[in-house]
Amino acid sequence: MKAMIVGAGIGGLTAAIALRRAGVETTVFERAGELREVGAGLLLAANAVRALGELGLSEKVRRLGTPASAARILSWRGETLTDVPADELEKRLGAPSAAVHRADLQGLLLRDLGEENVRLGATCSGFEQDEAGVTALFVDGSEERGDALIGADGLNSTIRTSLFGGEKPRYAGYTAWRAVVEPSHELLPWGVGFESWGSGARFGCAHIGGGRVYWFATRNAPEGEKDGPVGSSSGPKATLMKLFGGWHQPVAELIAETEECEIRRDDLYDREPLDRPWGEGRVTLLGDAAHPMTPNLGQGACQAIEDAVVLARCVREVGKDGVPSALRRYEDLRRERVAWIVRRSRALGRVGQLENPILCRLRDVALRAVPDRIQLRQFERVMLYKERSAVR
Ligand SMILES: Cc1cc2nc3c(=O)[nH]c(=O)nc-3n(C[C@H](O)[C@H](O)[C@H](O)COP(=O)(O)OP(=O)(O)OC[C@H]3O[C@@H](n4cnc5c(N)ncnc54)[C@H](O)[C@@H]3O)c2cc1C
Repeated sequence: MKAMIVGAGIGGLTAAIALRRAGVETTVFERAGELREVGAGLLLAANAVRALGELGLSEKVRRLGTPASAARILSWRGETLTDVPADELEKRLGAPSAAVHRADLQGLLLRDLGEENVRLGATCSGFEQDEAGVTALFVDGSEERGDALIGADGLNSTIRTSLFGGEKPRYAGYTAWRAVVEPSHELLPWGVGFESWGSGARFGCAHIGGGRVYWFATRNAPEGEKDGPVGSSSGPKATLMKLFGGWHQPVAELIAETEECEIRRDDLYDREPLDRPWGEGRVTLLGDAAHPMTPNLGQGACQAIEDAVVLARCVREVGKDGVPSALRRYEDLRRERVAWIVRRSRALGRVGQLENPILCRLRDVALRAVPDRIQLRQFERVMLYKERSAVR
């Protein structure tokens, strides 16, 4: 059996590893000329670490970064609003969460897969399929034939557009800056990470190994708004210092120590979850192509990893002759969980990005009042990955 994956992001690479482990000859087609993840961190929650465990990769991934610290939310002044200890979470979820550098994770996946299985500079423009197989079409006029095609081509997926038309993703109403910094002194004690909430803005940070700290910041903003040039009074650093300069330590210090040209800004999007199969025949979608979500729960890549493992299991169980039914089974198994996470992430973003100071104060009081066991139950629902039951 031969599978073709469009997109060599975390979802596409993990799917290729999982399918090859399931005995499927798999090639990944990536439009970029070289593989370079954005210079930022990634929280791999316990569910992703456990799913990677099914591919024999969880130990390697854990060694790559650092164990994620407690799930701690602070106010912009530094008062604790919630603090769920990491060891309690780990006990409940059966695995620790890990904070890694995106490029490190991409490198690890690529080494495991084998670079020879990724074709770079291959931009897919669509596909054609018939009873016997599927043909991927590329912008240079070339074609590739296989038994299955997986669109892991991200938020603005070409494969999704070919399947369902080009409906635009939904702008969340806020933008995010992120960067990695090697602080000159221990600005952030080892193992400490947090997310702080203000009015219409949030800041979060975590260690990601190798003495590096990843931070992100959000702010309500019109879609498409851009920072001024690096070094100018409207550049990213100046903008962030205006927004976060008065926040608790070490927020401003982390921003100040970051190389300005390393700060990346992206508007945030999701899509309304599909309530029907997200593929047709021998074609399916995976990761952001299928279910893009806001990053409020840190689950976009984690869900892509879960997709990959479940997809490979469905394909292995059905075999070459049953590709369409294996793909529909995969979509059925994943649809409800990812739809819930997309909606929950969107709702959390609305609360986190509240701007009215009175509502923010009420929000902070309410957050403090939520008992730990309720917080834990919420985390459990998002981060508990049940290996076999995910397929049954
Ligand atoms: C600010 C921010 C913070 C986040 N934090 C977290 C976090 O902590 N934890 C977490 O789990 N998730 C997080 N996410 C979400 C996560 O980044 C994404 O969900 C994840 O990267 C999606 O992976 P993917 O492989 O599906 O898609 P992508 O990473 O978008 O990869 C798609 C690939 O397809 C390629 N491609 C596109 N079109 C074509 C084409 N026509 N032909 C060939 N190739 C093509 C692209 O070049 C790209 O390489 C965050 C997102 C943001 C914006």
